[in-house]
Amino acid sequence: MTNTRTTAGLVCAHHHLYSSLARGMPAPKVAPHHFLSVLENIWWKLDAALDHDMIYWSAALGAAEALLSGTTAIIDHHESPNCIEGSLETIYAACSEVGIRVVPCYGVTDRWSDDGNLQQVHPSSAMTRSAQIGLEETEQYLASGKIAMVGVHAAFTCTDETLEAAAQLANEYNTGVHIHVAEGPDDIGAEKRIKQYANDQWLIVHGVHLQEPIAGTIVHNPRSNMNNAVGYARPSQWSNRIALGSDGIDSNMMSEFQMAFVAGRADNISFSPELAWEWLWNSSQLVPETQNDVVTWNYPHMDSPWHVAYTTSVHVSDVKVNNEYVLREGSLTKVELGEIRRKAEEQSQRLHHALAMSA
Ligand SMILES: [Zn+2]
Repeated sequence: MTNTRTTAGLVCAHHHLYSSLARGMPAPKVAPHHFLSVLENIWWKLDAALDHDMIYWSAALGAAEALLSGTTAIIDHHESPNCIEGSLETIYAACSEVGIRVVPCYGVTDRWSDDGNLQQVHPSSAMTRSAQIGLEETEQYLASGKIAMVGVHAAFTCTDETLEAAAQLANEYNTGVHIHVAEGPDDIGAEKRIKQYANDQWLIVHGVHLQEPIAGTIVHNPRSNMNNAVGYARPSQWSNRIALGSDGIDSNMMSEFQMAFVAGRADNISFSPELAWEWLWNSSQLVPETQNDVVTWNYPHMDSPWHVAYTTSVHVSDVKVNNEYVLREGSLTKVELGEIRRKAEEQSQRLHHALAMSA
């Protein structure tokens, strides 16, 4: 019996490549005590500090780590409110250099006032300049012919005008909207505002606090949900179309499958790894080209959810994307991992310094 086994490429159905540099960042000045405060004091400060160099090396590092774990496509959700123009091309360039597929989007939001300050959003207000530039960046990227989605941060930080414009843009380019929905208590009821636009191409991310079904694929992010203490999503109550994402915490999807199994089991003793396995491979269907990618594992039972659920030591040795080796015997072929880590480290120091200086 051979000790290796190949599979198709894995897909991370919801990532934030910009979070690769967040690891080791200085602690926020205000310790978050609920989910909205995590957003305000960590993520909305971090994304506001990003520039092109940080975006590039963050994406390159995230892409390299993804390939090392057999993930050959990333569906990314990006925000950098002070560096919007060209950000999607920057992410694409970094991912191409490393050799991974990427389906990017720019997450538009009205939470930044035209003066650049954080603001509460009223659904009936007019679209902000920041949201408008985000939509323009998205359209420019889509018009180049590359595959992408239309990103929206979340309904609770968007006006109705922005939600409608995002849905229209997605329809125009025959793609879906990629949006966080009811992740935490502050976004409860979001589906009521967006269900009039949603269709099967949409990615409904998290859905932890959904109260009714909505069209689209629900992207379940079990590790992130635990990290943010937002609760267990129990995604299969709403849909059979469920995929798995990392929400920016790495992109090791076999590990996310194991986490989805454990989270499901913690909720219900009869939860089967076969269901989480279905979610894992549903993710791959979102980027069908990955079916032809070839990932070689050091474990012979990679076709068995019952084996993999209880084997935390599975590793990838080789990855082929488009018939080309991008990982061979554990080493990236197109780029040098050590060099990416060095450059990313320089950029993370710049980012952490900027965060330490910010009020
Ligand atoms: Zn997210």
